[in-house]
Parts: sequence; C-alpha cells; structure tokens
Amino acid sequence: MAKILIIEDEPEMARGLMDNLVFEGYEVKIETNGEAGLQYALANPIDLILLDLMLPKLSGYEVCKALRAQNKLTPIIMLTAKGQEIDKVLGLELGADDYVTKPFGLRELLARIHAQLRRHKPDTAQDAETCAFGDVILDFKHYHATKAGEEIELTAKEFEILRFLISHRGATVKRTDLLDKVWGLEDYPTTRTVDNHILKLRKKIESDPANPEFIITVHGIGYKFLG
Ligand code: CA
Repeated sequence: MAKILIIEDEPEMARGLMDNLVFEGYEVKIETNGEAGLQYALANPIDLILLDLMLPKLSGYEVCKALRAQNKLTPIIMLTAKGQEIDKVLGLELGADDYVTKPFGLRELLARIHAQLRRHKPDTAQDAETCAFGDVILDFKHYHATKAGEEIELTAKEFEILRFLISHRGATVKRTDLLDKVWGLEDYPTTRTVDNHILKLRKKIESDPANPEFIITVHGIGYKFLG
C-alpha cells in the first residue's frame, strides 16, 4: 500500500483529501505546517507528497527545495491556488513533479497520483527479489547471496540494510533512517551499531573493504549505495 504525506494547513482540505485517499487504499499522514512536513518526509519512507504552497513556518517551495537538496526524491505534487501560474513554474524548477490547481476534481488528482507512483520506485514497496552489482548477486526472497559465484553468508539484518540502501540507490541515507527502517522499535540501538554492521557488510561484499565501491560513507550523515 503506497503511503502519501499531505502537507496542508487548511484542516477541511487536508481531511477531505485524507478521507478520499484512504478510501482509495492509500496510507495517509497529514502535517499542517512546512517545517513538520519536511521533518516527517526526511525521516520516514513515503511514496508521494501532496504539498500545499502557502504554509506556515516553511512554504511549499522551501519544503520542496530542502527535500531535493537532501536527495529525497519522493514525487511531489504541488497544490496551488488559482492565479499562481508563475508559482507553478517555480515549483517545477525547484523539483516538484506535478501540480494541481485548487479547486481540483478528485478524479484529476487521483490520475496524477497514479501517474507519479507508476513513474517512481516506491519507498514502501518491496523491491525486486534479486539484485546484482559488480560480481555480487543478492536474492532477497531466499536470503541467498553470492560474490564471484561463491556463496557469501549475510545475516537477515545485512540483507535488510542492503535492501534499504539499494532502494535509495544514489541517494544519501541517514544512519537514523537505517535505524528506523531496519531496526525499527526493536531494541533501539545507536548509530554506532549501524556503522559496525556496515563495516562487516563491506568485508563480505566489497572487493576492497577499505576502499568501498558500493557502500560509500557520507561523512557525518550516513551512507550511499552506488552500483
Ligand atoms: Ca495553505
């Protein structure tokens, strides 16, 4: 089930959107100001964002710009008001994927949401069952992995770390995102735990663990998967 974040300060609009999207089978979260919306979007897997333009604390533009600056590539549909034609162009330049003008029909919005979700790889959906990079082949369904044809033993956690990094290929993943996604609420460990797991993982999948080519350190933030 795809998850949609609505960042909208008008309660009636937010509630109406949520009711309709939940009815359509989406999981929905509402934030009512730009700052809270940005924080939520950065810390949680989301498949799509409906972003109002005029918001308290941070405007829709600022939220959009900040998300893209942090490599968060979640599709964004801007909700603009009539007469904000110039703003639409600016929104698209800042990295929004589409926009709808208020008042809009539900069918139009749903069609645009479907189009964006089809185009983007979902955050919350399970990824393809196998993945290959360099001489490594991962089979997520059977928890089986090989490097240069030789079996390598990865723990379930290591598979989950790889799955999460690979689903955000090319983007910086924060240690805290990995903690949330891979460890969840179970024995909430520290970011050092993440680093230790990455070190072990590199020894298994990297040809030269000291100079990794797949799991790259982004200093002070987290990791990035290349390959
Ligand atoms: Ca507003």
